[in-house]
Amino acid sequence: MNIVIFGPPGAGKGTQSSYLIHNFNLFQLSTGDLLRDELKSKSALASEIESLMNAGKLVSDTIINNLIEKKLSDVSIANRIIFDGFPRNIEQAKTLDSLLSKYSQSISLVLNLKVDYSVLTKRISGRVSCSVCKKTFNEFFDPPVSCENSKCADRVLNKRSDDNVETVSKRLKTYDESTLPILGYYSSKNIVKDVDAMEDIESVSKQISSIIKDLKR
Ligand code: ADP
Ligand code: ADP
Repeated sequence: MNIVIFGPPGAGKGTQSSYLIHNFNLFQLSTGDLLRDELKSKSALASEIESLMNAGKLVSDTIINNLIEKKLSDVSIANRIIFDGFPRNIEQAKTLDSLLSKYSQSISLVLNLKVDYSVLTKRISGRVSCSVCKKTFNEFFDPPVSCENSKCADRVLNKRSDDNVETVSKRLKTYDESTLPILGYYSSKNIVKDVDAMEDIESVSKQISSIIKDLKR
């Protein structure tokens, strides 16, 4: 089953993807993480990507679609992918459909994480992640006590450079203008399930778990 986890920045897509990976043997494909890996190359393309990310704008569809196609050709993850942060506009949604059909796959479920925007600034400004295992914590809601992995003993807790109040408001504007219309595209295919993402992390995971179990019945 391929799943799109959908919602504004800070809704909990990455957090719930981690839960899905561990409980349903799925593979997370996060375009944000793939882009942050690209930044390490320090190439001219990397600096172009970085300035777009810091401005809260979308990176070009060509760059994103290339990153995605490389992953979709990997048969070891076929039909067990969670798309996190992708698609981000209608064009990307259509490209995803045609790439998946090229590899005889499709999207079975779109989990729509519904949150009031009022909570997002605090969730994003409190977001930190482990430098070793990349697990995400929150200084306000999910304190970074320790990671499960013993290799993380020497970890540093990283904050993303785009997780500041000014960029967040631009990212929300981009989300409203470009990303939200995708919901209509997927609703017409009857694959969208709403999740109340205002609840705490564990309760959101429980809702998601019961949606997936219902679908598998
Ligand atoms: P996204 O991937 O949608 O941008 P994340 O999963 O990274 O969001 O979550 C953003 C921040 O909010 C993280 O610090 C995470 O620990 C925290 N968080 C996620 N879900 C919840 C929740 N249901 N309640 C409170 N905090 C949450
Ligand atoms: P969040 O869930 O907090 O918005 P992401 O890690 O998904 O964060 O994305 C961070 C930034 O990376 C976005 O603001 C955007 O600049 C870029 N990005 C991520 N995914 C895409 C995508 N599918 N298309 C275009 N840009 C993207």
